[in-house]
Amino acid sequence: MRAVFLTGLGGYEVLVEKETDVPKISGNEVLIRVRGCGVCYRDTLVRRGFMRARIPVILGHEVSGEIVEVGDNVEGFSKGDLVASLIYSYDPRDKSCAGGRENICRSRISIGEDRDGCYAEYIALPYWVLENIGSPGNAPPESYSIAACVVGTAVRAVKTIGGISRGESVLVTGAGGGVGIHAIQVAKALGARVIAATRSPEKAEAIRKAGADDLIIYREGFSEEVRKLTDGEGVDLVVETVGGPTLEQSLRSAKRGGRIVVIGNVDPKPQGVLLGLIILREIHVHGVLNSTHTELREAIDMIKRGLVKPVIKTIDLSEESVRKSHQDLERGGSIGRYVITPK
Ligand SMILES: [Zn+2]
Repeated sequence: MRAVFLTGLGGYEVLVEKETDVPKISGNEVLIRVRGCGVCYRDTLVRRGFMRARIPVILGHEVSGEIVEVGDNVEGFSKGDLVASLIYSYDPRDKSCAGGRENICRSRISIGEDRDGCYAEYIALPYWVLENIGSPGNAPPESYSIAACVVGTAVRAVKTIGGISRGESVLVTGAGGGVGIHAIQVAKALGARVIAATRSPEKAEAIRKAGADDLIIYREGFSEEVRKLTDGEGVDLVVETVGGPTLEQSLRSAKRGGRIVVIGNVDPKPQGVLLGLIILREIHVHGVLNSTHTELREAIDMIKRGLVKPVIKTIDLSEESVRKSHQDLERGGSIGRYVITPK
C-alpha cells in the first residue's frame, strides 16, 4: 500500500511517500480501508520534534473508513462497517482509563505517533477505539475522519467541559481554523450566541457561514470589541483554540466568573500568564484534551443530523499534497481541515 511516512524530524522533506506492506492485524484489531485522514496541526508539531514519536512512523490520527478485516477477538464490529476512531488507543483494563477518562489515562498511546497512523491506504486499530457510523447520511464518509479530533474536541470544549447553556455567549478564537470553525457550529447548535475572532479577513465568509453571530477581524487585540459586543460584560465562555498568542486577550474577554477552555497551542514555548486577571475576575481556566467516546458519538450524531457540517478540503495521498498541507497549516492559511482521501 502507499503511505506517507515521517522519516525524521525537521522540514517538509522528512515527509516521504513509500510503498509498504498492508498492516497485519492482531486478534483485537480490525483492518480499515482509509476513506479520510485529517491533517492536524499536531502533525506539524510532531514533525518539528515538539511531541514524542516513534520514527519512522506513518503520521495521521484522524481517520474514518470501512472495516475490511476483523480479528478473532473483536466484538461489535463487522466487515463493511463504516467507522471513525478516537485519536489515541489505550489499555481497556487500565483503571485510569475508566469512567470516561480514556483521553487522559496512563496507558494512552497516540495513533500516528506511537503507532502507525492514517496517511495511508489502510490502518490497523484495536476495536475499542472505534465508533460505528452506520449510514453516513448526507455527509461524505471522509468527513467523519474529523469527528474525534475536530468536532469531538469542540463538543468536549463547548459542552462537556465548557458547560454551555442556551443563551450564553461564547467567544471562539482562531475561528477559521479546524477546531474553531466547528466549535462555532457546535456552540450554535447548543443555542449559544457566538462571537468569532480571526486575524484572517480571507476566512470571514467561511466563519459567517459556520453561523457566527458576530465576527471580529483583528490585528492587535479583540477584547475591547468583545466587551463592546457584550455591553461591557465579556463572554460567559471563551474557546481558546490558538493558545499563547491570544491567551491574554482571551482572559480580558471573559466576564467576571467566566470560563476559558484551552484546546490548542500553536506556540509550544512556555507562556506568561496574567494571574491577576484570573484571580480578580475569578475566571475558571480548564484544559481540554481531544475527545472521549462520549464526544465522538455525539460528534458523529451531530454530523449525521446536519447540525455540524464538516468544513473539509480533500487532498490526495501523495508526498506533495501532504507537504503542502503542512506548509499551509503552519502559515495559518487553511480554512477548516485538509483531509487525505486515498483512491
Ligand atoms: Zn488532530
